[in-house]
Amino acid sequence: MAVFKPENVEDFYEIGEVLGSGHFGQVRQVRERASGTLWAGKFLKIRKNAYSRLGLERSSVEREVEILQTVQHACIVTLKDVFESRAEVVLILELVSGGELFDFIAAKENLLETEAIEFMKQILDGLKFMHSKNVAHFDLKPENIMLSDKMSPHPNIKLIDFGLAHFLLPGEEYRSTSGTPQYIAPEVINNEPLTTAADMWSIGVITFILLSGLSPFQGDTDEETLKNIIGMIYEFDAQHFSMTSSMAKDFIQKLLVKNADERMTAEECLLHPWIKPLTRTQVVNRYRSSINMKNFKKFNARRKWKMSYNMVWMCNRLGHMKILCKGSSDPDPLERQCESDVEDTESKPASLLRRRLSSSS
Ligand code: ATP
Repeated sequence: MAVFKPENVEDFYEIGEVLGSGHFGQVRQVRERASGTLWAGKFLKIRKNAYSRLGLERSSVEREVEILQTVQHACIVTLKDVFESRAEVVLILELVSGGELFDFIAAKENLLETEAIEFMKQILDGLKFMHSKNVAHFDLKPENIMLSDKMSPHPNIKLIDFGLAHFLLPGEEYRSTSGTPQYIAPEVINNEPLTTAADMWSIGVITFILLSGLSPFQGDTDEETLKNIIGMIYEFDAQHFSMTSSMAKDFIQKLLVKNADERMTAEECLLHPWIKPLTRTQVVNRYRSSINMKNFKKFNARRKWKMSYNMVWMCNRLGHMKILCKGSSDPDPLERQCESDVEDTESKPASLLRRRLSSSS
């Protein structure tokens, strides 16, 4: 069992700028008072009681902590410490300062497939390790693939956000309908038992986007996106994939497979000729092919815009809730952030919500 220190985190760490926000809390840069070292503090609001609709169940945070302690790998964010107060748990994490992989790529003029593959290899290495520990991430998406230091000539991938991750114990079934529509596997939508193969589907979607700037199943609404996933409705549009090697398309096709048992595993991916070429022709093809940078930049700009739109929407909603609760519109200066106190949108079907209410059976 992980030890949650009862001390006040601020006695040990100076709290700094906001690095990012999630559904249940905020991530801030923190400076360790004793050493001056910088870390990332993930502040998670905990439910006050069983009837509370706000915050996370403690058991869910315990699981995130245990999983982080299990998956110690160069391509996975490291957990240093955990503090707990009455209403909050603070995870002290390795500071991942290089930003998101997709932003790093979008800032480039062009990128050869062979360069993209170097990142894919690291992601797959991290996943292979995680899956060997019977841990599935269940929320792989561009926002959760970061770089340790973008100034380095060979930036290191760091997978983050184990909030939906789960230990898959032998003999136990696990079902969950949580996730982000664009990236979730058909078995998630169908509420079927899940395995680590669900992560491999997401890798197929991420690779598809990385190469073309198109999201394979994206519809105009979440409902449409889910229908496209279930119906396996996607294609390698000739225009957008004109610069893509046939090996890359084969790699994606072997991941976007409806039957989870037939999908490539992370280990198999690392042996696929796109990642590990066996012949000279395969090596040359990777150097001749490149990612569709023009469209990728468009995709990334739209993605960032949607992320900020969602944040503003959630903040506005919190403001509205506070007025209802307090009968006052005064902003609360002590409120660390807006998003964590807000339940997910009611306008979406429950199955689409990005929240940690999934169950084991
Ligand atoms: P979500 O509700 O999206 O799952 P969450 O509450 O689980 O979010 P994270 O996704 O772990 O929180 O973190 C939110 C954001 O904070 C990330 O998208 C990222 O921008 C930033 N972040 C998280 N961990 C780190 C870290 N170790 N170093 C730097 N930034 C981080």
